[in-house]
Amino acid sequence: MKAKVWGCRGSLAAPGPDTVRYGGNTSCLELTLDNGAVLVLDAGTGARSLGLKLAEEAPKRIDVLLTHLHLDHLEGLGFFTPLWTTASELHIWGPASPLKSLEDRIATYLSPPLFPVHLSAIPSHPTFHDTPEDEEWELAGVRLSAQRISHPGPTVGYRVEEEGRTLVYMPDHEPALGIGDLRGVAPEWLSGYAGAFGADVLFHDAQYTEEEYGHKVGWGHSSTEHVVTFAQLAKVRRLFMTHHDPLHTDDDLEAIFVRARELWDGNGVDHDGEIALAYEGMEVEV
Ligand SMILES: [Zn+2]
Ligand SMILES: [Zn+2]
Repeated sequence: MKAKVWGCRGSLAAPGPDTVRYGGNTSCLELTLDNGAVLVLDAGTGARSLGLKLAEEAPKRIDVLLTHLHLDHLEGLGFFTPLWTTASELHIWGPASPLKSLEDRIATYLSPPLFPVHLSAIPSHPTFHDTPEDEEWELAGVRLSAQRISHPGPTVGYRVEEEGRTLVYMPDHEPALGIGDLRGVAPEWLSGYAGAFGADVLFHDAQYTEEEYGHKVGWGHSSTEHVVTFAQLAKVRRLFMTHHDPLHTDDDLEAIFVRARELWDGNGVDHDGEIALAYEGMEVEV
């Protein structure tokens, strides 16, 4: 399968001269499976340009898998062209909530006064599904699973397996909440550990520097040290740092990456993987 990054900014779109190298659009990852099927992971503002491409290709079916409903993962949905046509059958998946259906929760945003048209009047009439969380399931001919992870509100990480290759997507995740040093706990107690274990490719939250994290404990995101250690403990082969803070410029991100490499090579966890910063337009063969 092949992954393409359409948005890797966290929290709020941050376009401008300081973010041209890594991009300002919020979370959206396109996954093209070897069998030709298309999965869209999150619908942040990056979904707008992906939608233009998919409308042209008009695949028979598109599955949009939402990790959670924070706006930076959802606000591109209203501008995702396949939502406005009937060329592709559209399915939208997201974590269940005991309070309201997925459709009703998405309609909180896709309805007046926040959006001009109510979700129920949108031409594609997407089918909504609660993401199964206790079992593996099959979608588009591949195996999927979703794990509840530590982040405010119902949030999952997705694991997609095709022909023995695995991609895991956890853009918003705070594995260290209440823990401190991740190396000090049995890894099986770590949020997200089983879901990420042994992944060939992991896209993971890397929002804060270690210094910033000190002021943001409980906000649901990872420090540079957390993302690196988490990926190493989970024996991930290739780590892609994503959900870049909107306040971080391209130069800030490159400084963060220097620190990440230092930890990757020298924090004492045995591993032999690779690490990189996600950027808009990046393509990864899994
Ligand atoms: Zn987010
Ligand atoms: Zn979030």
